[in-house]
Amino acid sequence: MKMLDNFFKYDYEQLVLCQDQTSGLKAIIAIHDTTLGPALGGTRKWNYASEEEAVIDALRLSRGMTYKAAAAGLNLGGGKAVIFNSPQLNNEQVFRAFGRYVESLNGRYITAEDVGTSVQDMEYIRKETKYVTGISNGSGDPSPATALGVWYGMKAMAQEVYGSDSLEGKTVAMQGVGHVGYYLCKHIAKEGGKLIVTDINQEAIKKITNEVAAEVVKPEEIFGVKCDIFAPSALGAVVNEHTLPQFKCDIIAGAANNVLEDDRHGELLMQKGILYAPDFVINAGGLINVSEELHGYNKERAYKKIETIYSNIQKVLAISKERQIPANIAADRMAEERIEKLGRIRNIYLNH
Ligand code: NAD
Repeated sequence: MKMLDNFFKYDYEQLVLCQDQTSGLKAIIAIHDTTLGPALGGTRKWNYASEEEAVIDALRLSRGMTYKAAAAGLNLGGGKAVIFNSPQLNNEQVFRAFGRYVESLNGRYITAEDVGTSVQDMEYIRKETKYVTGISNGSGDPSPATALGVWYGMKAMAQEVYGSDSLEGKTVAMQGVGHVGYYLCKHIAKEGGKLIVTDINQEAIKKITNEVAAEVVKPEEIFGVKCDIFAPSALGAVVNEHTLPQFKCDIIAGAANNVLEDDRHGELLMQKGILYAPDFVINAGGLINVSEELHGYNKERAYKKIETIYSNIQKVLAISKERQIPANIAADRMAEERIEKLGRIRNIYLNH
């Protein structure tokens, strides 16, 4: 079956199809790799056009979580769930039914909020299983944590390029001032950075420009503005054939997932002399934050841990330089090698 090609190619552990016709639940849980620990990843509710599209999405997203958790230094594996959306779903019934399936995996998969799901949905899941994060007395909205991590990552990038990690006087072009972009702009402005912002939502622009000084440009202009750092924080695939010739920056570092349309665009950025902060390394603040719920959430401890994104970016850049490979590939290697090495020590025999 074509949709399972990647299941075999990338050595996934488990794919669970869940159905409950009474509630209308149709879901897929994909567990990519649990070498480092239980697979943590959100549940996405989406209007999938076909079962094939949903399986492919669950597989792709769960593998992404393996890399993100490994690169962040967490003891977690990668998983993700998708629920087929439909207008007649009753959320309490659907998410409680889904919670029963999560429970049946006995902790191999821990779920969280994602696109199309809410804190309330996580509360329903919690009625049926403890393997859920992001409930109301937990770590809350991940965006401030993600923004904090991106800011640390940006500073590590500045250190590499300019010999100082201060963003004072640096110009940052921010594509998207939504949940994460808003907090990120505030960190940059507080440090004395200059902002050029864009968004397709005028309300979002208004919200940030009421609080910090920023030049506003049209969405299509943001790629070509002269700046030190381009910060993609809206959508994926923004580094592509069309945008590459436009960039006039030294660094690309932002919150968005899947920034490169294709892996080879990382190589092209390197050739252009633009340093790229791999997305899953720099935007792991939200994951680090939510993972802290697993040992009793403490905001101070969680935010301290988010600081490690600075050194994680430095490690990626060091691998990239030493092996003469683009930063995106260096990030993949860093994650894969951690899984391999820690996986091996877990084979040490213990007599219990
Ligand atoms: P969001 O939806 O709150 O913000 C995205 C903003 O981008 C919105 O204001 C939207 O209007 C704007 N936008 C969309 N298309 C645009 C375009 N073509 N040009 C300019 N602006 C455009 O989302 P968010 O939670 O802030 O996440 C931003 C990015 O970061 C996403 O790619 C997301 O996957 C990624 N991310 C978010 C988190 C998190 O904690 N929220 C964690 C990791 C990664």
